[in-house]
Amino acid sequence: MRQPVTGDLINIHTHGSVRIRGVFSVENLMLHEGRVPDDSADAFSAGIHPWFLQKSELPGLLDRLTQVIKDERVVAIGEAGYDHRRGPGGELQKQAFESQAKLAEECGKPLIIHCVKGWDELWTSRRRLRPEMPWIIHGFNGSTQQATQLVAGGFYLSLWVKSVLGGALNEVLAWIPPGRIFIETDGFDVELGLVYEKAAGGIGIPVSMLAGYVRNNYLTLFV
Ligand SMILES: [Zn+2]
Repeated sequence: MRQPVTGDLINIHTHGSVRIRGVFSVENLMLHEGRVPDDSADAFSAGIHPWFLQKSELPGLLDRLTQVIKDERVVAIGEAGYDHRRGPGGELQKQAFESQAKLAEECGKPLIIHCVKGWDELWTSRRRLRPEMPWIIHGFNGSTQQATQLVAGGFYLSLWVKSVLGGALNEVLAWIPPGRIFIETDGFDVELGLVYEKAAGGIGIPVSMLAGYVRNNYLTLFV
């Protein structure tokens, strides 16, 4: 399996993108889509997204997930999480999320989290499960106060790409310790280099420094 090298920009969370030289991508596979790792990315995360949960399908999807993650290209579980705006009710989301969090512990891989307005449930799950594996909030778009709380609670933050590009997260960016930050494009067709440029500009450091932080974090957490 290819590993990121110096000079690579790492995209921690995509939903399919063209492979580009100098970019190391972790593509997210949503199990309900029936996809498996292929040649489209350097590495993959695999999980059951809260939007598409159905009670009758959960046991089968969890079984499939345990199979898919045996592929060495799958470096993380998720995206999994809580969403108050979309998807089924709380109990099913909790069951799906906590099952995946336990799987992350069993297989020793980090967990990539989707969380929209479900922070109480997420914190409750974290207190209940006391995970040793890293939990990474993807698409983080909250306040500085929220970022500070999440960092203090042990979370890692990958930032919402639209807000990075628009400059809305500049203040938050400056508060995130270098050892806790990730960059992603999610499902958007944007140039990763530009996302790094904007984020580094927001913090007030060179792109190469931010790229080094993210690479270190990736190599520490995922490999
Ligand atoms: Zn996503």
